[in-house]
Amino acid sequence: MIKLENIHKYYDSQHVLKGIDFSVNKGEVVSILGPSGSGKSTLLRCINFLEQPTRGIIEISDKRVDAESASKADITALRNSTAMVFQQYNLFKNFTVLQNVMIGLTSVKKIHKVEAKKISMEILERVGLTNRLNHYPSQLSGGQQQRVGIARALALKPEVLLFDEPTSSLDPELVDEVLTTIKRVANEGNTMLVVTHELNFAREISDRVIFMEDGMIIEEGTPEQLFNRPKAERTKQFLRKAI
Ligand code: ATP
Ligand code: MG
Repeated sequence: MIKLENIHKYYDSQHVLKGIDFSVNKGEVVSILGPSGSGKSTLLRCINFLEQPTRGIIEISDKRVDAESASKADITALRNSTAMVFQQYNLFKNFTVLQNVMIGLTSVKKIHKVEAKKISMEILERVGLTNRLNHYPSQLSGGQQQRVGIARALALKPEVLLFDEPTSSLDPELVDEVLTTIKRVANEGNTMLVVTHELNFAREISDRVIFMEDGMIIEEGTPEQLFNRPKAERTKQFLRKAI
């Protein structure tokens, strides 16, 4: 479903991703853990070309794109196969909740307004925001804003959902409502790649967990393997510090 082959990323002379290989099957939930600066966000952003990978191949379903020869059409195709939930929500401040969810459908997917509204309302119901349709982001709590971010991503029905630390901007008491929403999304059979510092959450929702450090995958396995029987010394150290 999604496959990365030998992904490298340089920022000037800084080698930030050093040959990343992995794949995610349809319906699988994979979490990425790792210390700050290890390249987790860069990796997610390379998948949808928010950052241009310096080298490597990205495959999503039938689209196979070589970073060094990617055309505009290739990049658009990859972007349209993915949707991202950001740490800082990235909502449009001058749009209501409903408009924030509809905009991707009408502008990117060219779906008619009436249909886009229907889809958006259904999804906003699933994330528990039907009573906030006409509110603006500034009138919502952080948790509600992030649930709008999740609804916006879900509305696009992407082949893969990318989450980059979706709860790390939230006040502690708001984290749970967002984690509960993401768990529900995971249980609905969506294919997901989730960067998170919430280890218990990663353990609970993931089919597989990847541990990254210094631009490389150090270890990957089931949550049971990675958390209970980590092989690499660096994984052990990270888990000891994080718990
Ligand atoms: P965190 O857990 O703090 O979010 P991360 O694992 O997501 O960290 P990245 O944000 O991917 O790490 O950063 C990896 C490295 O790339 C860091 O050294 C960072 O300074 C560098 N970097 C990231 N974005 C850029 C950029 N736009 N320009 C230059 N260097 C960058
Ligand atoms: Mg990051």
